[in-house]
Amino acid sequence: GSEFEEKIDYVFKVVVIGDSAVGKTQLLSRFAKNQFCLDSKSTIGVEFQTRTVNIKSKLIKAQIWDTAGQERYRAVTSAYYRGALGAMLVYDVTKRQSFDNVARWVEELRAHADNSIVIMLIGNKADLVDLRTVPTEDAVEFSENQGLYFFETSALSGNNVETAFLKLLDEIHNVVS
Ligand code: GDP
Repeated sequence: GSEFEEKIDYVFKVVVIGDSAVGKTQLLSRFAKNQFCLDSKSTIGVEFQTRTVNIKSKLIKAQIWDTAGQERYRAVTSAYYRGALGAMLVYDVTKRQSFDNVARWVEELRAHADNSIVIMLIGNKADLVDLRTVPTEDAVEFSENQGLYFFETSALSGNNVETAFLKLLDEIHNVVS
């Protein structure tokens, strides 16, 4: 690899989960395709992108996995969760059902992922102000009860996307260091 690659201190695997069409792929692109994006890869069935960021003087390579639509068939396998240190659990603030399903996704994580996984709940499409059906307070209450971090984002405008990913990576760093 390049000189830059060789200085990487940690590689953190992060999975992005949640119902279909909530904006998982757009969130991932928004975060990964910034100017520090080093490479992107795809394999059969699963895809991940990477971005390297500096957190507390450590170079951290985030390897962020997308379900590639597998959630549509309830076919997200335990291989997807293996080794994941963080999860972005996404719902759509305009689709109540996608928020109601969040509890099921948390169960899925507790069943298949490592106990110490850091979970960030994301209410995406916050730009669709007039179409909102999930009040912020509902998600705040849920995340406090479940011990999750929480942000509302817009992959469209980019609002809070960087903040949410960096917060997740920072919390993972706190867990592993
Ligand atoms: P996925 O199935 O969860 O990966 O969802 P996608 O990333 O494919 O997004 C589903 C649809 O929602 C697409 O039409 C996106 O353009 C749209 N979308 C994603 N994020 C946002 C957002 O933050 N705001 C708005 N208005 N639309 C979004």
